[in-house]
Amino acid sequence: MKNKMVSDIRQLHADLQNKKISCEALVKSKLEELKSSTENTANFLLEDFALGKAKEVDVKIANGEELGLLEGIPFGLKDVYLLQGQPASASSDFLKSYVSPYTATAVQKLLDAGAIPIVKENCDAFGHGSSTENTVFGPAKNALDSNKVAGGSSGGSAVNVAKKYTTFSLGGDTGGSIRQPAGYNKVYGLKPTYGRISRYGIMAYASSTDVVGPIARNLEDIRIVLNAISGQDFRDQTTYESKEVDSEEMINADGAKNLKVGYYKNFIDNEAIDAGIQASFKELIQKLKDKGIEVKALDFFGTSTLVSTYYTLAMAETASNLARLDGTNYGNRAEAESLKEIYAITRSENFTEETKRRIVGGNQVLSQGHSEEIYNKARALRDEIDQRFASEFAEVDIVLSPVTPGPVPVVGETLKDPLAMYLSDAYTVGFSLGGLPTLSAPLGTETGLQITAAKDEESKVLQFANFLNELS
Ligand code: GLN
Repeated sequence: MKNKMVSDIRQLHADLQNKKISCEALVKSKLEELKSSTENTANFLLEDFALGKAKEVDVKIANGEELGLLEGIPFGLKDVYLLQGQPASASSDFLKSYVSPYTATAVQKLLDAGAIPIVKENCDAFGHGSSTENTVFGPAKNALDSNKVAGGSSGGSAVNVAKKYTTFSLGGDTGGSIRQPAGYNKVYGLKPTYGRISRYGIMAYASSTDVVGPIARNLEDIRIVLNAISGQDFRDQTTYESKEVDSEEMINADGAKNLKVGYYKNFIDNEAIDAGIQASFKELIQKLKDKGIEVKALDFFGTSTLVSTYYTLAMAETASNLARLDGTNYGNRAEAESLKEIYAITRSENFTEETKRRIVGGNQVLSQGHSEEIYNKARALRDEIDQRFASEFAEVDIVLSPVTPGPVPVVGETLKDPLAMYLSDAYTVGFSLGGLPTLSAPLGTETGLQITAAKDEESKVLQFANFLNELS
């Protein structure tokens, strides 16, 4: 029962409704905390917008009106979401002065529920990275140790949640960007099933794996936000109508005990894994077996296959998506003699090194003479990965995995070796290629635990996470 009770959203809701705190005072205090913070998580504070909304909530409270559960709750937005009239930079020079012309569907649903966005959060530019150091706003710092990275790409969002500057934040996850920073900052981060939440109004990185998802300090808040933002949207053809995750189901420990669990042997008995992460993961598996849970060791694709498949596709898709940034329609534009030069100078001056590496790599794998051999091969491998997931989830309900093979890096280390950075995504990218729902929970290993189920089985994921919480 204990986790049903733990909810910052429910607590704040009660405090607002009972006039323990005014919404204006609440929002002001969070903005002040962000202003005096040292983790460098805020690209833009939405001060006027947020305080205006807070006053509206206070009028309702003064009139004795019943507030909705999310009404007046301050939250953060990774700086890749559009909120009409507000900046959206993707942490890039290119869009540093860009103003959103419309509002993302997920954000609109939260606005409709009365939640209040207070900050656009630092992240890796266009989602390209695993540390929130590939950003023109300077690196974000880890919430628990300022010498360490925040993780990425949704690093600012995870740190804001961990430091309680926001009640929850919306991150974006293409290959691990919600799960890994959540793990690095010891909070919860959910990558929902691909298509559960509309991507309309979130800047595209790799469209075939991009998902919107919540980061929060407890499971109940994850559940509340997930239900609020899910649903079919005619503006995103990949969306479907999903079932709400029920709170009674989430806390049903008996249901969780009957779930069959699997883990990938080759993820764990591997030279690349840190000894401490390996030992604590094995300990957790043993503990589950001791509790009578059925646990199966499974074989999966090697991590190098997963990383190469993911990066081939992600680079190809981001090269295509970012072709629209040429100085004509969005953001900065360099002056030059000819149109071709305007494109070339604008793009070389306004993208970071890491983003350029991905655009060049992506265009290479898509180009004539290479696409057959590289891009099409990655497409075929992805189909095989998908089929393997489908057959495995016919046998097990849950797959457990560490979030990362290594501990949290110190600031400055990751940028030196891009290949090492790509390899640090070894455990997260596979579940993205499968479009599966995966939660990163702050337990099991020092960088957290991934809990995955078959498509659209978020209920099982949250139920098992709640069960694990009660075990520990
Ligand atoms: N680190 C991975 C990458 O750089 C994932 C990033 C993401 O999910 N946006 O592609």
